[in-house]
Amino acid sequence: MADIVLTTLNAKYIHAAFGLRYLMANLGSLRANACLVEFDINQRPLDIAEVLLARNPKIIGFGVYIWNVAPTTEVIAAIKRIRPDIKIILGGPEVSYETDGQPIVELADHVITGEADLKFGEVCQVLLERWGETPSSRVLPKTIAAELPDFSRIVLPYDLYTEDDIAHRIIYVEASRGCPFTCEFCLSSLDIPVRQVPLPAQRLLDAGVKQFKFVDRTFNLNVATSKAILEFFLARYQPGHFFHFEMIPDRLPAELRECIAKFPPGSLQFEVGIQTFNENVGAAIKRRQNYQRLEDNFHFLRRQTGVHIHADLIVGLPGETIESFGAGFDRLIALGPQEIQVGILKRLRGTPIIRHDADMEMIYNAHPPYEILRNKLIDFATMQRLRRFARYWDLTGNSGNFVESTPLIWRGASPFHAFLCWSDWLHARVKRTDSIALMRLMELLFEFLTGELHLDARLVAETLWRDYKRGGRHDKPGFMKDFLTTEEPLLPSSKPKAVLPKRQARHLV
Ligand code: SF4
Repeated sequence: MADIVLTTLNAKYIHAAFGLRYLMANLGSLRANACLVEFDINQRPLDIAEVLLARNPKIIGFGVYIWNVAPTTEVIAAIKRIRPDIKIILGGPEVSYETDGQPIVELADHVITGEADLKFGEVCQVLLERWGETPSSRVLPKTIAAELPDFSRIVLPYDLYTEDDIAHRIIYVEASRGCPFTCEFCLSSLDIPVRQVPLPAQRLLDAGVKQFKFVDRTFNLNVATSKAILEFFLARYQPGHFFHFEMIPDRLPAELRECIAKFPPGSLQFEVGIQTFNENVGAAIKRRQNYQRLEDNFHFLRRQTGVHIHADLIVGLPGETIESFGAGFDRLIALGPQEIQVGILKRLRGTPIIRHDADMEMIYNAHPPYEILRNKLIDFATMQRLRRFARYWDLTGNSGNFVESTPLIWRGASPFHAFLCWSDWLHARVKRTDSIALMRLMELLFEFLTGELHLDARLVAETLWRDYKRGGRHDKPGFMKDFLTTEEPLLPSSKPKAVLPKRQARHLV
């Protein structure tokens, strides 16, 4: 039993809700009578409602995001039908902007917009002190804007990571909040100013945290701070440590490079947003970057460090054609990041990208995640092809299961156009983009490379076999047995380094 329940539906079990832990840590005297209950989006809404109601709370606070707004709406609708007296408070980016007419907002009693670390506790305090005064709208307005919190007053949330969280889930941390840039598709462009946030790094290491995911939007914005943090972790590095940072691609001065180069291979992962190589598109969406410095930084990272690079490109930006996107993709392939996330443009609530809606004929899906369906330059059928391209790229290029085999798809031709042919062919064969077993995908790739591209079957089989063993597997797939020498499988398989996340480890072997 608890007066206050804080909850959210995470995208996956391994994602421990960082924002909710901040709210819980800052409940003050109310914390003793509050609890945090996490679910994931694969659980049934009624089952979630049952667990929450069993706590018999007076208030439930929901963290609402683009990935959970639909099932969360169902959960709240059920709770309100059974126990209309329970006060529902919403927070999170999905309910911080353009809330008028949003079904989930209509169901809720109060919505806190902005950073609610301190505001949630204040709202609960008022509601509980004046409990019984109905409706609660007489006590507080429906929409409550949280002012930027003063970090000197904030209790950090890290003690709320349990031993189980540390052992089995991703541990999120932050050293700064906000972003000074103005990319029109991004919610963080509304987050100015940037603030430094205290990080008890030694305490986290002492608690046994090995894998740190920094949520800072631009970790290397403040070079002195980011260097100090990197040096701190480098000095205490232990096998199994893994640090993920989001980096601005054109900002890697010598002092940062020197420190980065000292980290062991695979221990650093940089998520590097490029989004577009088309300078006109960059200017149109107010995202300016120095492409020469960006390329120079990529060369440095790939040649002189063991950093795992996860680079982002976006399909569907205003002004981007399929040709210019393809040219950008090829340019990025030439820079050699281990992973390329091909994202489909989303129309996030509150973002200024809507100013292009009329002139660029931007049509988005009305349902989350509000992805672009077509625009003036890319029709719906082509957008669908690119959506499949993105999914199949994830399965083939990013997964680490086809590190050597994927480049066979293009062999000197345009990687974009060649991969699009593979994507179209694969979709015609399987008519789906999910639930394709690895063995089936291997077999189809073998068939495509040998049957469609007429590559030598022995060469293809040996390349696929090396990739297959990269994941620590030994069983020789039946379809390639005739093309492999009998002695070769006796070689020891190259097991990925178990201490690193699996996908990154496969890229490293
Ligand atoms: S895309 Fe990155 S750099 Fe641009 S506003 Fe968002 S967080 Fe900042």
